[in-house]
Amino acid sequence: MKPFSYVRATSLREATAAHARLPGSRYLAGGTNLVDLMKLGVENPAALVDISGLPLADIELLPAGTLRIGATARNSDVAAHPLVRAHHPALAQALLAGASAQLRNAATTGGNLLQRTRCPYFQDVSAPCNKRDPGSGCAARDGVHRDHAVLGHSEHCVATHPSDMAVALAALDADIELYGETGTRTVPATAFHRLPGERPEQDTVIGDGEIVTAVLLPAAAPGAVSLYRKARERASYAFALVSVAVVLDLDPAARRVRRVALAFGGLAHRPWRAATAEERLTGAEPTAEAVREAVDAELAQARPLRDNAHKITLARNLACDALATLARRAQDGRPSTP
Ligand code: SF4
Repeated sequence: MKPFSYVRATSLREATAAHARLPGSRYLAGGTNLVDLMKLGVENPAALVDISGLPLADIELLPAGTLRIGATARNSDVAAHPLVRAHHPALAQALLAGASAQLRNAATTGGNLLQRTRCPYFQDVSAPCNKRDPGSGCAARDGVHRDHAVLGHSEHCVATHPSDMAVALAALDADIELYGETGTRTVPATAFHRLPGERPEQDTVIGDGEIVTAVLLPAAAPGAVSLYRKARERASYAFALVSVAVVLDLDPAARRVRRVALAFGGLAHRPWRAATAEERLTGAEPTAEAVREAVDAELAQARPLRDNAHKITLARNLACDALATLARRAQDGRPSTP
């Protein structure tokens, strides 16, 4: 590991000032991804600005019913929080599916959003990788890419985003709160992560020196149910081959979809909100046929690589099963417990 300096910030202002003062610095919170990447030589910060001591760990209900989750709230605390479990079970399920208990106890909400891809070539400093070393090429495109993207990829990068939590946040219409030298702003979770385009080194729209300070979850609609499902290579502690988060608001009397939100993980460089499928299902009766047609219309945009077309079948089956499960629960008035 290369030498680096270390500063422990006691306020947001102090953190952003230290970041501006120290070229090549990175913010450190749980460190579960950053420190691993430093050991691999993928990240070589000149300085670490430790923000883990800032008062950003609260989970609180705001007057309009918005749930505010502080950026340093640990993944385990968010997953176990009664308000998350009661009103946003898809988020609790995604966090519990995301990592081992040890990692969940250390990893923070902000860090979960900012974790880097697990593309093996990104983590191997001897391989060409446009995300790690812009302009060097993409070893995955013609290499081992079974776990890579089928939607929204570019000739420059075919990586997927590894976060389970971010997929749930995309379906739950969360906002991400950011603090920087010019003040505070919010970005919809669906717009926080980028598609790779020509700049795969930029995972998100976060500005230089900005800090994620909170996630804001709007109040769930009365009667709406939500669910997170994940397909992976082994039963636990593996990143998603494909995952799906669904929020369904069904009119049980008319058996029509009032509103549905569907987001895929493991398919793209960011959580993939399925706008086409949502549009087709809104106002429709969620029969197996209607659900299948809507999901197929969404996945018609997929451009699989040489060895990952299986992801399309997985995504179709996972989404159809999740939507059918939620439709039954909504019809029966049963909540989606984590
Ligand atoms: Fe790098 Fe992206 Fe290619 Fe992986 S897919 S080698 S992260 S450029």
